[in-house]
Amino acid sequence: MTDKLFDTKAPSTTTTGAPAVSDRNSLTVGPDGPIVLHDVHFLEQMAHFNREKVIERQPHAKGSGAFGVFETTEDVSKYTKAALFKRGAKTEMLARFSTVAGEQGSPDTWRDVRGFSLKFYTSEGNYDLVGNNTPVFFVRDPMKFPHFIRSQKRLPDRGLRDNHMQWDFWTNNPESAHQVTYLMGVRGLPRSWRQMNGYGSHTYMWVNAKGERFWVKYHFHTQQGMAFFSNAEAAAMAGADADFHRRDLFEAIERGDCPSWVMSVQVMPYADAKKYRINPFDLTKTWSHKDYPLIKVGTMTLNRNPVNFFAEIEQAAFSPGNTVPGIGLSPDKMLLGRAFAYNDAQRNRIGANFHQLPVNQPKVPVNTYMIDGPMAYHHTGAAPVYVPNSGDRPWSDETGKVDNGWESDGEMVRSAYTLHPEDDDFTQPGILVRKVFTDAERQALVETVAGSLLGGVREPVLSRAFDYWRKIDADVGARIEEKVRKGKA
Ligand code: NDP
Repeated sequence: MTDKLFDTKAPSTTTTGAPAVSDRNSLTVGPDGPIVLHDVHFLEQMAHFNREKVIERQPHAKGSGAFGVFETTEDVSKYTKAALFKRGAKTEMLARFSTVAGEQGSPDTWRDVRGFSLKFYTSEGNYDLVGNNTPVFFVRDPMKFPHFIRSQKRLPDRGLRDNHMQWDFWTNNPESAHQVTYLMGVRGLPRSWRQMNGYGSHTYMWVNAKGERFWVKYHFHTQQGMAFFSNAEAAAMAGADADFHRRDLFEAIERGDCPSWVMSVQVMPYADAKKYRINPFDLTKTWSHKDYPLIKVGTMTLNRNPVNFFAEIEQAAFSPGNTVPGIGLSPDKMLLGRAFAYNDAQRNRIGANFHQLPVNQPKVPVNTYMIDGPMAYHHTGAAPVYVPNSGDRPWSDETGKVDNGWESDGEMVRSAYTLHPEDDDFTQPGILVRKVFTDAERQALVETVAGSLLGGVREPVLSRAFDYWRKIDADVGARIEEKVRKGKA
């Protein structure tokens, strides 16, 4: 990223370009006397320093990322007309990885879900896919989201993280069981960001050139091979190098070892959604690979480090609401909630014009009527600022059915989703524990969960946690309870 304002080889100046008289000595009355109020350069410097940080993200505060390219290698035109997914298209992109609950300085290797946020600078505008390293999530209604995040953060009185609070939330919300199983399993401690998979997690819509609609789930498989830390290794690394994941990604790209992921999708014909055995829009569920096999789309490669962390990573703004033609949202309530919340978080952190910053700007021209506001840098000159206008500034006038919509009707209610025949909270985590985990992984799961429960979880949450794990898997639940009871004895 070039910067026209700064010349870092020129003599030091004030923000207004005048010579900075001294960056080392404040202006005093005699060498030992008081600092005078009109030492403007000193005062300006302190005032700017006091404002040098933006509000950290709530959640996903600790992270980093890199730029790269997405290349569509396969023909998926029968599912989407999106230019970015036309065979042969190469699209510049940005990826940001993060922990969820940690704050800016938290260790990268604490057990947590990892954010996997992607911004594609496409020829039709920016497309953001804001996923995680897990295919599911803890809750399925965004009304619960702020409560979930607060329960993973800090106690209101002593400001400490608290296992009791975490398990209180999870066991009071049994739909968390699938994600909690994933989190407490080996994948809760990835060895590096390069060695983990990514998932769009939500169900999205794809629309082809004929207007046919499909439901899709995105999968990104690491080409570096998956690797994990044990609990002991992760704890040691948290002490030795809290920034281990950030350092690993930067140094790998710096030495030319550019990580890549293969992107595939599961595609569900539009009409299947109503009759599929589980609700395909429920973010706590996966679609069986046997029912909807992975279809390869292309490869993402990260090959360029940020030149400036603050400008290009800290100020990077992602939103799952940023879609392009050929791609849409879905009735997933969590996705619909996020489609609002993400851009609003950036307005709060960075300001109403965050989209004008170079890292967030699309590579295509913008003609938005959302103008002015704090720190507006770009502007529309004397062009009309309203529609309809009698000048020559175009506006959009689409009416009628939208091509990436879906039908719905019914009275307004506050309700859980309508259940499909096999919808429940414990079957899929049970399959994960029994059929996917190895014996060694199951044993590690028992130890991790028992260790977490022994870390300050009290009744009645403790008994609820035993019950929760027995519902996931009777044997694993019994082993967890036995280990905790022994640990307490
Ligand atoms: P499959 O046997 O086809 O899928 C199992 C998948 O589980 C694998 O493909 C792999 O996904 C993932 N996996 C493997 N080891 C682990 C692990 N230690 N921790 C977490 N995930 C792991 O069966 P189904 O499609 O029927 O799914 C069975 C269960 O697998 C589900 O209940 C779900 O818990 C889990 N799963 C399913 C995914 C899906 O999209 N269907 C994706 C991930 C997990 P990957 O190749 O993505 O690494």
